[in-house]
Amino acid sequence: RWHPILGAGWRDEEPATIFDKLMSGDIPATVVKQDDKIFAFKDINPAAPAHVLVIPKDRSGLTRLGKATEEHTEILGRLLVAAAEISKDKELGFGDGARIVINDGPDGGQEVPHLHVHVLGGRSMQWPPG
Ligand code: ADP
Repeated sequence: RWHPILGAGWRDEEPATIFDKLMSGDIPATVVKQDDKIFAFKDINPAAPAHVLVIPKDRSGLTRLGKATEEHTEILGRLLVAAAEISKDKELGFGDGARIVINDGPDGGQEVPHLHVHVLGGRSMQWPPG
């Protein structure tokens, strides 16, 4: 969100986002998967029958995908591999395939300044997206 000093809120030193509170347990989350680097949970406002978000536990330098550099190669790979595994989980409501989305910045429709991979499924998707 716009902030008079911090601008659009994409700086690493921004205050903790709602995703930090989900990871700490301050706000309840339905955790789907986690390891030392990634955290995945059900979206509270699902845009499809199955909707999971996968985030890096450490958002340093990764408030949005557009900030990624070579040094983020490993974590970006881990996020996508986790998304692939989640997208095959029938118990979560996924069918055959999914829509994997990263909204990047204001024009991409990103609201929370902590990189997140949307994994959407359980219905057939349309193209182009809105
Ligand atoms: P948008 O809100 O436009 O989809 P983002 O790409 O930034 O933009 O997505 C943020 C996502 O985080 C939304 O899908 C939203 O429903 C989800 N979300 C927000 N708060 C929570 C929460 N407490 N628990 C789970 N998901 C949440």
